[in-house]
Amino acid sequence: RHRVGILGGGQLARMMALAGLPLGLQFKVLDPATDACAGECTPLVNAAFDDAAALQALAGEVDVVTFDFENVPADSARALASKVPVYPAPDALAVAQDRLSEKTLFRELGIPVPAFAAIDSREGLERALDEVGVPCILKTRRLGYDGKGQFRIRSRADADAAWEALGAQAPRVGLILEAFVPFDGEVSVVAVRGRDGEFRAWPLTANWHVDGVLSASLAPAPVPARVQETALGYARLLAEKLGYVGVFALELFRRGDQLLANEMAPRVHNSGHWTIEGAETSQFENHLRAVLGLPLGSTAMRGHACMLNWIGEMPDAAAVLGEAGGHWHDYGKEPRDGRKVGHATFRADSAPALADALESAGASLGRSGQVDPVVAVLRG
Ligand code: ATP
Ligand code: MG
Ligand code: MG
Repeated sequence: RHRVGILGGGQLARMMALAGLPLGLQFKVLDPATDACAGECTPLVNAAFDDAAALQALAGEVDVVTFDFENVPADSARALASKVPVYPAPDALAVAQDRLSEKTLFRELGIPVPAFAAIDSREGLERALDEVGVPCILKTRRLGYDGKGQFRIRSRADADAAWEALGAQAPRVGLILEAFVPFDGEVSVVAVRGRDGEFRAWPLTANWHVDGVLSASLAPAPVPARVQETALGYARLLAEKLGYVGVFALELFRRGDQLLANEMAPRVHNSGHWTIEGAETSQFENHLRAVLGLPLGSTAMRGHACMLNWIGEMPDAAAVLGEAGGHWHDYGKEPRDGRKVGHATFRADSAPALADALESAGASLGRSGQVDPVVAVLRG
């Protein structure tokens, strides 16, 4: 039986374990939090991600190590990789951990990106504002997630407030200024590459964020075939350049038929949760197949799927379970403001049927605001 180590024990590790148990896999998860939610279904080791002794012990107990958390110190990943196969490889992880290195790579590969500039001082911010223009967003280069570590600059008068908010973090995590993109929509490619180089991608997903946090995802994204082909082509270029192994997501802004890359996530991704019920093989199963060198499963989808994130607290399950094609995922986390505690996926054979189910569940849950933008797109 294959043994898989996972650095990070959140809901992604939990869903990997749930997908891996039928394959006969055994898991060991490392996380500093004693209440990490993967611990409900896998053995959990409580240790810091830079605890050399804990990493050494983990390396001795598993056949491969992967990640639920992308911000594990790259040196920890490298130390592990000298003892046991680690996928994605530490070098690929390191590129994706830094917005400057990932955007530089996108540009090198001919993948369009918003204008950006690295910053290391208050004067540097002024130079970057000259270069990038306003409106723009000041972001930490490393360690940001769910829109944290970002400050929106609407006019040059906001520069002091932006520096006040994030300047102190410049030495530790670095800063980058990015042009604000007035997008028509956001899409993501969730793709997988095997140890043998085989590449597969699920259909393009459309995403809606609220306050920088993913709120809803819809697949297939209602975009022309050429837009999907372009997006999948970018993901493939990236995966091949990085020699990537496993699942990753490429987030893109769409303006008409034009795509601009925002960031990549070197792991299974929230915008791919719909694949559990909506695709022949889920992102979690294919990630495990990839890192273990097993044949990849089909990424074909079954009809249409929409995922809704539950942020802060879980709503009542009945409204979702009562819909044909409604599926419930409770991560078993303590409710907390802004925290992803679960999600629901709705699957239907047609776009109108999916819109009906979303409207009905949205009304029962008192969450019409969350489903309305998706329903509007589905009704075209
Ligand atoms: P994630 O949780 O996806 O890792 P993150 O903290 O890394 O999020 P981003 O993906 O950079 O942050 O930004 C979060 C969201 O904020 C984006 O999905 C988008 O809605 C908005 N956003 C970020 N950058 C831009 C931009 N340059 N132009 C317009 N909107 C943006
Ligand atoms: Mg991110
Ligand atoms: Mg993002």
